[in-house]
Amino acid sequence: MDDLYREVIIEHYKNPGYRGRLDPHDIFFEDNNPLCGDHIEVTLQVGADGAVSDARFDGHGCAISQASADLLIESIIGKPIEEVKQLNKQDVLDLLGIELGPVRLKCALLSLKVLKAGVYGLGEAGDDLVE
Ligand code: ZN
Repeated sequence: MDDLYREVIIEHYKNPGYRGRLDPHDIFFEDNNPLCGDHIEVTLQVGADGAVSDARFDGHGCAISQASADLLIESIIGKPIEEVKQLNKQDVLDLLGIELGPVRLKCALLSLKVLKAGVYGLGEAGDDLVE
């Protein structure tokens, strides 16, 4: 699998720019991908204009799960929450820039699932959030 990882994924995995936890924060959510053992939590601060003023992720797991979280968080800072709600599977795949099989797809989409459950204020992160 390693030879399929593009350099950008390794780079974001090893040197994530947005790892951490915002305190205080307006939105918090966390969830796991039991298939792989990945864990992701996100914290967001939302400005008076309804846009994401800052965001961080924390967690552990495989390179795909952590790199996609870093790329995703980077991409949403400054975006209106309404736009974040519209993000889908393809947006994450575009950020990663690689094709993924069904197992790795779960890893890649965990951060999106967590993020969307958070912005929608849901108590649970369902797979339907990332279709
Ligand atoms: Zn994984």
